Amino acid sequence: MSTLDGKSALVTGGSRGIGAAIATRLAAEGANVALTYTSAPDKAASVATAIEGLGRKSLAIQADSADPAAVATAVDQAAEALGGLDILVNNAGIFPTGTIEEITVEDIDRTFAIHVRAVFVATQAAVRHMGEGGRVLTIGSNLAERVPWPGLSLYSASKSALLGLNRGLARDLGPRGIAAVLLQPGSTDTDMNPVDGDHSDAQRALSAFGEYMKAGDIAATVAHLAGDAGRFLTGSAVTIDSGTNA
Ligand code: NDP
Repeated sequence: MSTLDGKSALVTGGSRGIGAAIATRLAAEGANVALTYTSAPDKAASVATAIEGLGRKSLAIQADSADPAAVATAVDQAAEALGGLDILVNNAGIFPTGTIEEITVEDIDRTFAIHVRAVFVATQAAVRHMGEGGRVLTIGSNLAERVPWPGLSLYSASKSALLGLNRGLARDLGPRGIAAVLLQPGSTDTDMNPVDGDHSDAQRALSAFGEYMKAGDIAATVAHLAGDAGRFLTGSAVTIDSGTNA
């Protein structure tokens, strides 16, 4: 028996990168897994097919995290298709950059809509379907706690907001036996932050291990926290960044 046998999960932004790795890892541990995406239907479909290939149920739902109604509907659709919801992974994200002089009001609104408002809305919708033992696992960033270069104020501000939100969720959901954890990855090889990108040497230089992580490394921690081992971890931020912020 696998650790997540019979559980149901929804991963936002599950078509690529860290979200795709989380979705397939949760399925490998026994969960049925729905995922959302916005612009890559083919990639989302192939993640869902891979999950079905593991013998689990899956569903790819197009839902722009910037649209709160679409997010809430996606959660309900996932719960209906999978017969409930035990695990929500708030992962969908973007990487806006620009100095304080360059950032526009539109950038600010869109970033906070995707990184913060969507987490509120998805969690509100998900916990209506969740019982005792449920998990709300949110992907933040190690840049919430340390900002080593210019141009990151908007991204970092939006990920820092998740620290307060996650603590509040722990208090609101604790009486129902639902745990909330914020995972704060560091440099991870994905389309958002490729290992051979323009800024990758600078990121490697800050890492205690001197290397990027792979999406599967983050997914392994998420799967661990989604299982019994995560039962009493709530309100905490887990920074998994190869020692970059050490
Ligand atoms: P990718 O760009 O590789 O993948 C992003 C995923 O999010 C895709 O599935 C994409 O869907 C989805 N997505 C983006 N915007 C939206 C939206 N508006 N609505 C719904 N889905 C959306 O990024 P990563 O895998 O690297 O990042 C995943 C998370 O990890 C993000 O929250 C990011 O901030 C965080 N993170 C990443 C780090 C890194 O070094 N890679 C480090 C620290 C944190 P689609 O394919 O349809 O576009």
